Amino acid sequence: MSRRCIVHIDIDAFFAAVEELLDPSLKGKPVIVGGLPHERGVASTASYEARKYGIHSGMPLRKAYQLCPHGRFIRGNYQVYQAFSRSFSEILSRYTPDMEVASLDEAYLDLTRCRPLYASFSRTVREIKQVVERELGLAVSVGVGPNKTLAKLATNLAKPGGLFEVQPGEEEAFLKDLRIELLPGIGPKAQVIFRMLNIHKIGDLWGLPRATLRSLFGLNGEAIYLQARGIDSRPLVTAAVPKSVSRETTFLEDLWEQRLLLAHLAYLCDRLTLALRKDRLFAHIVEVKVRYSDFKTEGRRRLLISPLQEMGEIFRISRELFIELFSGSRLSLRLVGVKASDLVRGRPLSLFEPYSERQERLGSAVDHVRGKYGFGSLLTVRERMLDEVYSFERNRGFVLKTASLTK
Ligand SMILES: [Mg+2]
Repeated sequence: MSRRCIVHIDIDAFFAAVEELLDPSLKGKPVIVGGLPHERGVASTASYEARKYGIHSGMPLRKAYQLCPHGRFIRGNYQVYQAFSRSFSEILSRYTPDMEVASLDEAYLDLTRCRPLYASFSRTVREIKQVVERELGLAVSVGVGPNKTLAKLATNLAKPGGLFEVQPGEEEAFLKDLRIELLPGIGPKAQVIFRMLNIHKIGDLWGLPRATLRSLFGLNGEAIYLQARGIDSRPLVTAAVPKSVSRETTFLEDLWEQRLLLAHLAYLCDRLTLALRKDRLFAHIVEVKVRYSDFKTEGRRRLLISPLQEMGEIFRISRELFIELFSGSRLSLRLVGVKASDLVRGRPLSLFEPYSERQERLGSAVDHVRGKYGFGSLLTVRERMLDEVYSFERNRGFVLKTASLTK
């Protein structure tokens, strides 16, 4: 197997850095986020300036106050941090669909599958770091290695604000002098035992037989044995992508007029693409389904080279598929549906078609207005016609039924 390229990226002193961004007077001051000095509770983040006084996250606020009475104590606003965190993962998702969000301010990227897209991993990683810092206004530390353990250890060395890459063949030299407590498998209890054994650095662990580690720490000992040698084949834990997203309408009365049916189809595509955008999904397959008045059901699908999310494109394809299905029919329809499948998450990096930023911005503007004023507040020309029919038919109990997300 070829060497993987795993990137670990971590925002430095996240909460404190956001507070400094919002209130520049805090810059260069010891900032402690988590509560006011007299309050119970602990510091959730300390700025690097505050760390000079020995303050760290998890420390009781009163103790932090004793160490640094002139520190700037802030309660913090979780919703603001969440908004920053969402932008953080959105930016990262532009570079690869293989992403694990480890926490609000920390993520892993696996660039291995994207190798054909990037001339040089090192250059791409530098670019990712620059783009995140420019767009968020926050400093990040980045570690690169052949697996999650090494990438995360590299980030430790990169802090604050740096980038560290573990080069092929240099894994042992890199690990040798690191303190053992940096390994994720080594907690406070294990640290005590290793101290008694006079083991302080990762290199010191190499002399211990696997069986010894296993008898000392059980399964965790196995993990320590492998981690100490830089061996880690764990895949990234990416958020589950649904198999398909579909929307369909069953009419209370069968319909035959093509113009009206296309208006329904436009509406369904609109709802479908709203769901895709919400979940940052792109579809490789678009499928249209119809059910005739005799209950016979037929479908047509199209496989797309570059996956799509845009309403206009998905409707254009659906319309063609629908006309192929319906044009020869002598029957009216009782149902029409549209489905997107073979989904990927995150803006796909296409070699063939540069993506339309204009379309994307239009989509998010439409979502924004609808989120505020309801779906019906904005309709396409085609849907407008449907709206007229609805208001006309409303008294007769015209009903729309829509299907949902299938996992
Ligand atoms: Mg951090």
